[in-house]
Amino acid sequence: MSNDILVINCGSSSLKFALINPQTQEALLTGLAEKLGHADAYVTVKQDGAKETASLSHQPDHAGAMHAIIATLKARNLFDQVAAVGHRVVHGGENFKASTLIDDAVIAEIEGCAKLAPLHNPANLLGIRTAIECFPTLKQVVVFDTAFHQTMPEHAYLYAVPMSLYREHGLRRYGFHGTSHRYVSAEAAKVLGLPLDNSAIVVAHLGNGASAAAILNGKSVDTTMGLTPLEGLVMGTRSGDIDPGAHAYIGAQLGLDLDGVTDLLNKQSGLLGLSELSNDCREIEDAAAEGHAGALLALNVFCYRLAKQIAALTVSLGRLDALVFTGGIGENSSIIRAKVIEQLGFLGLTLDASANDAAIRGKAGKISGATGPAALVVNTNEELMIALDTAALTA
Ligand code: AMP
Repeated sequence: MSNDILVINCGSSSLKFALINPQTQEALLTGLAEKLGHADAYVTVKQDGAKETASLSHQPDHAGAMHAIIATLKARNLFDQVAAVGHRVVHGGENFKASTLIDDAVIAEIEGCAKLAPLHNPANLLGIRTAIECFPTLKQVVVFDTAFHQTMPEHAYLYAVPMSLYREHGLRRYGFHGTSHRYVSAEAAKVLGLPLDNSAIVVAHLGNGASAAAILNGKSVDTTMGLTPLEGLVMGTRSGDIDPGAHAYIGAQLGLDLDGVTDLLNKQSGLLGLSELSNDCREIEDAAAEGHAGALLALNVFCYRLAKQIAALTVSLGRLDALVFTGGIGENSSIIRAKVIEQLGFLGLTLDASANDAAIRGKAGKISGATGPAALVVNTNEELMIALDTAALTA
């Protein structure tokens, strides 16, 4: 019976995909097409632990990648099992407060949001259009990174700038990583036996991009990312919060225009800028262990800023039941988790050091001591969340 969901996450030069059974929640097949738009594009497919790579040089674009996915699904007798397609879309603006079935009006609205996410939404739309062409009979669903944060109250989402900028240009805080924050907070409540509708949780999604969110009774009430994914925490190559006055100063000192400054804050800052070594947390931790001054500094700033933001987010919750770590860094770095929890001791948080050391990818669990709010590690699974939303909307 066809009831599996094909999940598509389309970037400007990549296309990530997974075939997921929404009942068993199992990924039957996963894959990634990379270097799309370049002659040496290729696709990697994983099934049952076995990995295969194929060149896309005959058609090195998104359509070529989609045709390769169809061919591999057919070759593995999985094609007829696909019941619907679910797409990740980065920006849904204020119009999308939940996942939705795709039709022409939805596509037009996603196009309208492209000015808010010029690097992401056009690529996401390309994936949607290609999938519609390739699977013309299947229903398709979009799941937005911003939708979960649409429950933020206006005092949390407004910037203190002329209101006309909000009314006429949509300038406000939107927040991102919503699919991960939604999945992880619900999982954390399950693990802790907390009723989701009576819970106060902070999720720290720490990957190359990083954001934290305050989730009260299952709804996002504040988050660290804003109009764009540049606001908030220190990230791999992004600065996070910086004095808005710094833009003019950097521009004047380095002779850069606004695009140049934005590029510097997005691509040369964060862990990379501070460490003068790498944006990769693993490399930074290894170098810090050998006494590399830049790596030590980067870790200190990253953890301090994260702890400070988590404490700030508790204002919107009024209490803290649980602090949850997720994402590549959150799921793997016991060092960062320990440093952050130590700095948040005044909130009552305590650490079970051996549970913390044991909690690495695939081994999520509680890492807090006997007293105070819970701290735990949860493995995020955005693809599963997209598959479940898609199954629910197309059932
Ligand atoms: P993501 O964007 O969620 O894939 O996360 C990528 C980040 O996770 C990179 O900074 C990696 O260095 C980091 N990461 C992955 N594994 C580890 C690990 N074992 N220890 C520390 N950081 C890790």
